[in-house]
Amino acid sequence: MTDPIHIVGAGMAGSEAAWQIARAGLPVVLHEMRPALGTFAHRTGDCAEMVCSNSFRSDDDVMNAVGQLHWEMRAAEGLIMAMADRHKLPAGGALAVDRDAFSASVTAALRAEPLVTIQPGEITDLPREGRWIIATGPLTSPALGAAIQAETGADALAFFDAIAPIVHADTIDMGVAWRQSRYDKGETEDERTAYLNCPMTRDDYEAFIDALLAADKTEFHEGETAGYFDGCLPIEVMAERGRETLRHGPMKPVGLTNAHKPAEKPYAVVQLRRDNALGTLYNIVGFQTKMKYGAQTEVFRMIPGLQNASFARLGGIHRNTFLNSPTLIDDRLRLRARPNLRFAGQVTGVEGYVESAAMGLLAGRMAAAEALGRDLGPPLQTTAMGALVHHITGGAEAKTFQPMNVNFGLFPPVEGRGGRRGRKDRYPAYTERAKADFAAWLAG
Ligand SMILES: Cc1cc2nc3c(=O)[nH]c(=O)nc-3n(C[C@H](O)[C@H](O)[C@H](O)COP(=O)(O)OP(=O)(O)OC[C@H]3O[C@@H](n4cnc5c(N)ncnc54)[C@H](O)[C@@H]3O)c2cc1C
Repeated sequence: MTDPIHIVGAGMAGSEAAWQIARAGLPVVLHEMRPALGTFAHRTGDCAEMVCSNSFRSDDDVMNAVGQLHWEMRAAEGLIMAMADRHKLPAGGALAVDRDAFSASVTAALRAEPLVTIQPGEITDLPREGRWIIATGPLTSPALGAAIQAETGADALAFFDAIAPIVHADTIDMGVAWRQSRYDKGETEDERTAYLNCPMTRDDYEAFIDALLAADKTEFHEGETAGYFDGCLPIEVMAERGRETLRHGPMKPVGLTNAHKPAEKPYAVVQLRRDNALGTLYNIVGFQTKMKYGAQTEVFRMIPGLQNASFARLGGIHRNTFLNSPTLIDDRLRLRARPNLRFAGQVTGVEGYVESAAMGLLAGRMAAAEALGRDLGPPLQTTAMGALVHHITGGAEAKTFQPMNVNFGLFPPVEGRGGRRGRKDRYPAYTERAKADFAAWLAG
């Protein structure tokens, strides 16, 4: 019998990783600190507890990227999807589950598997020996968080995310927006045109501030405090401090000339910055927010140039422990500096139950392959799983790295179906290609 692979955290990622390792015929020890040591969001001692909503989001594997990810996880015989399917509740096109029955059945399946040992207790250090997968999630215990920070450096581990909304580039109206960096700064043409700018007149600005002040906001969860976002204020809080605050902050109009109307000085400007190497996603600079999702879509579409914007993800501020994966993790999900350690789940900078479980599935398969003397690379970037891994380990901008849901903006364009062609045409092309490439990865 080979030495067991150790996993820290029996959440979405850790549970799936343990299952995949056992399926490969290898022993695995799954360390979980709950229920002896809890978090502010978990309620039970079960594996794969859903801490908030009971939804795995869209189950449409043709028109939706998360539905495609479901498809891939089912194809790879994932435990999380199998148990979600078993405990499915009626929810239209979404995959909603009975949360208690779901977690109980994940726990039972792992307990019934002879190769899996569930070991209660907190792990407080990063082990130097053996193969380990760290899957401790957004609420990693403080002691282990400190150990990870000591290993990776203070700037490489974040304890909360402040996400500005991210927009699909091809939904920005370039008849209104223009490319220019403030004061045309930069050595190269690329740098001088790194930002997209959306101009506002005084009336646009006043209406925007009114909408911000009136919008529905989310309250902080217990255990989260305003202290988490010092120096990183939500835009609605800035607006509450004074109607002009934003115009002197992220929306200042200085150093910019509207390429469409050079003689007209904008009253305020909203800037967007490229968010991935493909150039398919842009984030709205400085627009972290606690507005509710519905309100965000309405308010942000008031910005000239974003009237038809489609959002890859909306903004938010949450308690969340995650690594700066683009600089720290290789595409086998190993810590570059300590390759006996893999990371999986939300701590790698993906966001959501399904994405976290998917990273667990990959980490488990990769660790098992390595223990068996084989090297397993990630699926191609054309698949949902591959697109996510590629994003967190290289595709995303390291300087502005924030957790990411799976979305079609992470997929390389399909030949002849990019640009302004309709989504109805493009999305099925993405998912058809993804299915073929994922099946080939599984077969190889
Ligand atoms: C408040 C909150 C609400 C959320 N709501 C949603 C939502 O509605 N929908 C959605 O898709 N996603 C949501 N998320 C994100 C969600 O947490 C992740 O999507 C998913 O649960 C992460 O999976 P994971 O396996 O990475 O972490 P988790 O599922 O959190 O699992 C990590 C496990 O590691 C354990 N652990 C931590 N530290 C240690 C240690 N040192 N030793 C041993 N065990 C340890 C924890 O107890 C936990 O069981 C939410 C997150 C938070 C914090």
